[in-house]
Amino acid sequence: MATRALIVGGGIGGLAAALTLARIGIKVEVFEQAPTFSEVGAGIQLSPNAVRVLHHIGLEERLRTIGSCPEALEMRTWRHGWMVSRAPLGASVESTFGFPYYHVHRVDLITMLAETAQENSDISVHLSARCIALEQKKNSVAVKFENGESWEGDFVIGADGIHSVVRENLWGLAKPRFTGTIAWRATVSKNALPADLIRPVCTVWMGPQSHFVTYYVKQARLVNFVAVVEKHGWEVESWTEKGDKSELQADYSGWHNTIQQLIAAADPDQCYKWALLDREPLERWTDGRITMLGDACHPSMPMMAQGAAMAIEDAAVIASCIADNADIEAALHRYESLRKGRTTRIQVGSRTNTRDFHLRPPASWSRNLRWFITKQALSGSGDVGWLYGYDALSAAS
Ligand code: FAD
Repeated sequence: MATRALIVGGGIGGLAAALTLARIGIKVEVFEQAPTFSEVGAGIQLSPNAVRVLHHIGLEERLRTIGSCPEALEMRTWRHGWMVSRAPLGASVESTFGFPYYHVHRVDLITMLAETAQENSDISVHLSARCIALEQKKNSVAVKFENGESWEGDFVIGADGIHSVVRENLWGLAKPRFTGTIAWRATVSKNALPADLIRPVCTVWMGPQSHFVTYYVKQARLVNFVAVVEKHGWEVESWTEKGDKSELQADYSGWHNTIQQLIAAADPDQCYKWALLDREPLERWTDGRITMLGDACHPSMPMMAQGAAMAIEDAAVIASCIADNADIEAALHRYESLRKGRTTRIQVGSRTNTRDFHLRPPASWSRNLRWFITKQALSGSGDVGWLYGYDALSAAS
């Protein structure tokens, strides 16, 4: 079996993979280009399929302290706030799928993963280590870094996000696609809002060519919102691009009073805006002893809230395949073949959700009626059993 893995990228996926591989006795080196492990000051949803893996790598207690469990997912209309459908989360999801559904702050999640990795003697983390090139050798892979260092391992995982250098090294340059949508993101202190304005649920407000998502993070001390609008001519993908709050207000003018109050309470210096990018599903993720995970190989739009969950599942499946097969190349190919169908379904479903959330009348009226009758909440997922019930830990058995 392999003894040393090199992971390029210390985001959610790279750190999760370091922890799953260390559990099966592999020595792991994680290389992160940034000088510190960091994430945007915003929320993230973690569904039971991802939480199952996080529990497996020993994070159950820590997750409980940083996460909040929403009671339900509610789909509402943009102007009047009429409820189109409601899917229970909370205790219902936990009893059906065996694991909770959490809302957490991204900084808390990355801090938890990074600290757990740094406490593990089988994992070494290298910061300010930007990968610039890879070279396959007969029985190893060499990785070169901008700081002049070079490392060799039995295999390499590119967990370096949508602009992956690993991907570029394997298959050349191909820019991600601008999806024609931009996202506004901010958090607002609960104390700055009228009491009971936001209930402990995740709400998706659906309007013409746009939608608005609200939920609590930081144990309900902050309200997180993500506001997605179809827009062209602004195509910067960055977590830290500051937007003009008056533009955000104009984008949601005429929307329900709850949305107006949330935007009004947002700090103008903390309203971030960026273009949403994705890619067509890739034909291959693996070449010899190099593979990829997460956004490096299957970035999706955020409309199923599954991008990080897929990276975390990838981490579990890679470790099982490596543990099961002494032939590393065969193990990495098996990982890819086990994961591709599911991640492609998420990529396609996320696009479908975007289209369905953003319908205009009269198509939106028939969507509302259909979803009201079927109690459907996510068109890309339909019955959530296949999504939340997936067991990444035994996918390779
Ligand atoms: P990244 O998070 O991009 O991490 C890549 C890491 O690699 C970074 O730390 C980067 O600095 C590093 N890196 C890059 N290049 C190099 C290099 N050359 N050398 C060394 N290091 C390098 N997903 C969910 O599951 N639930 C949600 O609720 C959710 N909401 C979302 C909302 C929005 C608005 C968006 C845009 C996305 C959302 N996602 C959600 C998706 C999720 O954020 C991503 O899928 C996830 O962060 C991908 O993780 P990753 O580790 O693959 O990549």
